[in-house]
Amino acid sequence: MPRIAAVKAALLLTLAGPASAVVSVDTDLSRAPQAKALASRAQQLVAEWGPRVNTLLYGPRRGATLERVRIVFEPAAREDGALSYVREGVIHLTAGTAPAQAETLLIHDLTHLYQHDLPEGKWLLEGIADYVSHVQFAKDLGPRLRLDADGHLSGYSASQPFFYWLQENRVDLRQRGYLAGNEVTASFLHWIVLNKDKDIIRRLASAIRDDKYSEAVWAEASGESLDRLWQQFIQ
Ligand SMILES: [Zn+2]
Repeated sequence: MPRIAAVKAALLLTLAGPASAVVSVDTDLSRAPQAKALASRAQQLVAEWGPRVNTLLYGPRRGATLERVRIVFEPAAREDGALSYVREGVIHLTAGTAPAQAETLLIHDLTHLYQHDLPEGKWLLEGIADYVSHVQFAKDLGPRLRLDADGHLSGYSASQPFFYWLQENRVDLRQRGYLAGNEVTASFLHWIVLNKDKDIIRRLASAIRDDKYSEAVWAEASGESLDRLWQQFIQ
């Protein structure tokens, strides 16, 4: 294998005001030198979106909890087909991923780096990461799902592969449907932000960070339980 020096660069970004944050971004192209353009875009995006993700999760007055982001570019997807993933605090992104998809995946995984763990709430961590990447960044996920009377998605095409998969597999979303997948959870969170509690993302992420997450957090502003919110969402 030819020895190709890893391309490393650091971007410094300083925010004005008390929430100053410095995010340095290292990219490693040694395994996939063809991803040079993607790496340069990734550096720019992480520098721009790192502080923004931090603010979305924890509020404007809290400085970044993350100072360094490392991205390794891979020549092929992971065995399970994942084009982007986080392993031991490092983002791995597959070279050749379509640019728009790569960017959305990168913002999703960047959000994971800012999140604190919640072993029993992986669905929520994934939903928040998709809220940030699809609702806030890509702006391609609305605050409603199209459901038929039996709680199945309807009217989705293969251009929205995840919703299409749920639809074709006749997954019933009526009871705790927010567990069905990241995009569903993210759409639900989007609806809550617009209709019930504009601070729900911060409330949830901060409670997880402070080890205070329970289902009671959902009701703090709206007075509605998680399952009542879900029922209203799917009406
Ligand atoms: Zn994820």
